[in-house]
Amino acid sequence: QKAEWAKLVNERTITKDGHHVELAANIGTPDDVKGVLENGAEGIGLYRTEFLYMGRDHLPTEEEQFEAYKTVLERMEGKPVVVRTLDIGGDKELPYLDLPKEMNPFLGFRAIRLCLEMQDMFRTQLRALLRASVYGNLKIMFPMIATLDEFRQAKAILLEEKAKLQAEGVQVSDNIEVGMMVEIPAAAILADQFAKEVDFFSIGTNDLIQYTMAADRMNERVSYLYQPYNPAILRLISNVIDAAHKEGKWAGMCGEMAGDAIAIPILLGLGLDEFSMSATSILRARSQMKKLSKEEAARFKETILSMRTAEEVVAFVKETFHIE
Ligand code: PEP
Ligand code: MG
Repeated sequence: QKAEWAKLVNERTITKDGHHVELAANIGTPDDVKGVLENGAEGIGLYRTEFLYMGRDHLPTEEEQFEAYKTVLERMEGKPVVVRTLDIGGDKELPYLDLPKEMNPFLGFRAIRLCLEMQDMFRTQLRALLRASVYGNLKIMFPMIATLDEFRQAKAILLEEKAKLQAEGVQVSDNIEVGMMVEIPAAAILADQFAKEVDFFSIGTNDLIQYTMAADRMNERVSYLYQPYNPAILRLISNVIDAAHKEGKWAGMCGEMAGDAIAIPILLGLGLDEFSMSATSILRARSQMKKLSKEEAARFKETILSMRTAEEVVAFVKETFHIE
């Protein structure tokens, strides 16, 4: 089977009925690009930049960040690279920021909330990204967006830094797409409004499931509630994809679910455009995708979305698509 998959390294991902879907990889550091290329990813769908900030005792400089982003963009040779701005807080702490302990870190001062307040830090990252943008196909997304106002503020800051750089005579790409992660239920529900203002969505199911089910993604005792196939989650995902398409935008997914064998036929049928997963899942997913018909998968959309439980969904999908 492995040998079979290896032959797919240089192929685009085309379904049995001729539809292209993008299979991209998630990375944490520039060193991960090697595995991305070896496994034939068509792009990077999530570059988690927090690793640049972790395991050290001070903030990374603009220059250090610029080098990291430039390296990734160059090695990807024009393939899309979606970089997520700093998503710190929750389970990821930065000791040198000296933030007060919180009762509910996952519901607290983190990600875009923190960046909009600690703007020097945010602006440094955006400048590094903007300067690196001329070395490849950069797309930028903001994590943990809950309101339109947050997205507008973040985008306005990005555009301010772009204008400043250009006034200094620095080259910046004019084709940077600016999108957001959809990982908070409020954003998933209001996706039709967000879709008018973003260039793309990337659904972060790791957090979207945790927040929708009110079940901590790290807590074993409530892990029975962590249900990717709960119809409530699937309806949110479907809403996000439909909202994007109505406005002519694309929708991807960068949570663990995107690489899951049971999720893949469901997501294909819901119309997901880009699937971003760990590099080691790409070839298996491509092999699965080649055997699926998008039009057939789409015919099961209403049936699946009107189911009552995750168990029903799993049983139906396994049976229908012959998954062990
Ligand atoms: C997510 O929440 O699904 C996601 C991709 O982000 P992270 O796992 O880094 O929170
Ligand atoms: Mg997340």
